[in-house]
Amino acid sequence: YAANSSNLDINFYDDSSLERFIEHQEINILLSEAIVNDELHIMYQPKVEGDGKLIGLEALLRWNSPVIGVVSPAVFIPIAEKSGLVTSLTRWLISNVCKQINEWQQASVELVPVAINISGADLDQDNFHEQLIKPLIEYKIRPQLIELELTESARSISHEKALSTINHLVNWGFDITIDDFGIGYSGISKLISYPVKKVKIDRQFIKNIDKDKRKAQVIEAIIAMCRVFNIQILAEGTESFAEVDTLIKLGCHNFQGYVFAKPMKAEMVSQLLLIQNVLDFNKCNLVGIVS
Ligand code: C2E
Ligand code: MG
Ligand code: MG
Ligand code: MG
Repeated sequence: YAANSSNLDINFYDDSSLERFIEHQEINILLSEAIVNDELHIMYQPKVEGDGKLIGLEALLRWNSPVIGVVSPAVFIPIAEKSGLVTSLTRWLISNVCKQINEWQQASVELVPVAINISGADLDQDNFHEQLIKPLIEYKIRPQLIELELTESARSISHEKALSTINHLVNWGFDITIDDFGIGYSGISKLISYPVKKVKIDRQFIKNIDKDKRKAQVIEAIIAMCRVFNIQILAEGTESFAEVDTLIKLGCHNFQGYVFAKPMKAEMVSQLLLIQNVLDFNKCNLVGIVS
C-alpha cells in the first residue's frame, strides 16, 4: 500500500506472501500504537424490530491512522487476531463502551444492550471473564447490558478453554450471540455446545432474499432449527424493505442494516435513546449517517 494514501482501504496489490507478511507487520506496528495515539473510536449500529423500535446496539471499532488513513476493521481485525494484538483492542473497546454506557446512564435515558465483537483469541486467554468484569464494576454496569458476539476467528483456539470462559460469562449474566451465522465452519457445533441466546444470520444469506427462493428456504430452515434451541434470530445487513418484509413472513423479527440505520456516533445514539427508542424517519434524520 502507498504509505501516505489517505482514506483508502489497504490495497493488497501484490499477492506474494512476503509482501503480505511485511504489510501485516506494518499494520501490526501501526495498530499497536493506535491506542496510545488516540486513533481509535467506536461507532454504534442500531438493532431494531420491523417497525424501527430500537432493541440493541453493536459497538464497531474504527481506526483512522495518520500514516495509512482509514482502515476497515474487516482488514485490521483479522491481522490483529493472528498477531494476538486483538486482545488489547478488545480491552480498549470494552472499557470505552462501559464508559459510554455509564454516560447514558447518568443522562438517565432508557438503555438497550450493547453488543461487543469477541474474537477467539479473547476467549483463549485464561482470565478473559475477569478482564471483562472489571470495567463493568468500575462504571457500575449490569452484565445484562452487554452482549457478546462471537465471530469465527482465523486463529484456532482451545475449545475447552473457550467453553469454560463462556460458561463463566453466561453465569454472570452476559448474553452470547453467534455472529455471521451460516458462513463459518463451526456455527452449528457452537449451537450445540455453547449456551447461545441469539444468532445473527450473515448478510450473505439476507441479500436479495426477496428475490431468491433458495435463500428464503435456507433461512426458514435456520429459523426452525433455532426455535428448537429457543434461540432468537436477527438478520444482519438488511438493505431493503423488500428483504425485511420477506424475513418477517419467514418468522424473523429482529434486524440490523443500512435500511434502518448505519453505524453512528455515540452522540447520535443519545438522541435516538431520547426519542422513545424508535427510529422515526420523519422526526429525526437518523438514516443515512455515514459510518
Ligand atoms: P460484523 O460483526 O458482522 O459487523 C457487521 C458489519 O456489517 C459492520 O461492518 C457493519 O458496518 C456492516 N453492515 C451493517 N449493516 C450493513 C448493511 O446493511 N450493508 C452492508 N453492506 N454492511 C452492513 P464493519 O464495522 O466494517 O465491521 C466489519 C467486521 O469487523 C465486523 O463484522 C466484525 O467482525 C469486525 N469488527 C468490527 N469491530 C470489531 C471489534 O471491536 N472487535 C472485533 N473482534 N471485531 C470487530
Ligand atoms: Mg458483530
Ligand atoms: Mg455479523
Ligand atoms: Mg457479517
